[in-house]
Amino acid sequence: MSRVYNFSAGPAVLPVPVLEEVAANLVDYHGQGMSLLEMSHRGAIFTGIIEETRALLRELLAVPETHEILFLQGGGHLQFSMVPLNLLGAAAEATYIVNGTWSKKAAAEAQKFCHVNVITPAAHASLPDKDDIHVPNDAAYLYYCMNETVDGLEFNYVPPAPSCVPLVADISSNFLSRSVDFSRHALVFAGAQKNFGPAGLTVVILRKDLLGLADEACPTMLNYEVHVQGKSMYNTPPTFPIWVANLVCKWIKAEGGVEEMDRRARERSRLVYEAIDRSEGFYTSAIAPAHRSRMNVVFHLAEEALTDLFIREAEKVNLFNLKGHRSVGGLRASLYNAMPVEGARDLRNFMFEFVRRHG
Ligand SMILES: *Cc1c(COP(=O)(O)O)cnc(C)c1O
Repeated sequence: MSRVYNFSAGPAVLPVPVLEEVAANLVDYHGQGMSLLEMSHRGAIFTGIIEETRALLRELLAVPETHEILFLQGGGHLQFSMVPLNLLGAAAEATYIVNGTWSKKAAAEAQKFCHVNVITPAAHASLPDKDDIHVPNDAAYLYYCMNETVDGLEFNYVPPAPSCVPLVADISSNFLSRSVDFSRHALVFAGAQKNFGPAGLTVVILRKDLLGLADEACPTMLNYEVHVQGKSMYNTPPTFPIWVANLVCKWIKAEGGVEEMDRRARERSRLVYEAIDRSEGFYTSAIAPAHRSRMNVVFHLAEEALTDLFIREAEKVNLFNLKGHRSVGGLRASLYNAMPVEGARDLRNFMFEFVRRHG
């Protein structure tokens, strides 16, 4: 077997022991004579898996009893609609911090449901200044994207909101890579395919007192309360992604937990950012060091025409999927939990080597 280093932004690299465990038990799930993919979600085996996954997430992220954990479908995109549908209540407006591709898309969707008050950073490719975040007391919630996957920006502070305004965060691309302060966050959500498992599963962690605000007209499947009451089994849940996510949780726990994931994320991203910063302008990053993402390193070649050559030569040394998002161009190295630190080190060495050859 030969595995490459896969820097894809998502669906993304998964831990090899998880893939091996799935492969070994795919056809015959631990002696049951059938695959988990063929089993009822109401049976003891799957209900055991979903409950254990919920308990593992509660433990790994220290989720307090004030919050519920839901396993849903529809990706991050469906949350762009579910958040306003469930949290607006009688309020006429919500506040969105828009500093990248995903927060922009979320704010545009919310505009279908309410007036959106937008906070933008003073400079492109940055975070707003903490002191520039003013949220009216009657806003239904304050929304932000903790890690902008396309643009390579990550919040290094929790946006301040009045205590009566719930704070909502899209944590799709940095889920389980750092701790979340649930005394400040009323709702967080994450699509699984970046850091948690295969595509097809979305995790929502929300404070119980937010339930019950949805309008009568809210479609049943989009109502958080329905899914809380159904313990995420109102309808058939995505059983296969939940099984894989269960194994990812166990892997994270065995590797040292979320704190260790954070340490590795800092280490990996530091290696790659150093290669950019030491290149004397050969590689460029538009993002201020304090706002740089630990998960998605976005950079450009000063000589843009060398980008395709960079990608081709990287593949020759097993470094794959480094092309930047089509909207920003350039290069992007996504360095999720399952990326070994050696992968980041190999990329850094290749980057130095590429400067020597083409600089
Ligand atoms: C990938 C991503 C999304 C969209 O996720 P889908 O599952 O494709 O809907 C939303 N927000 C962030 C931060 C992402 O990285």
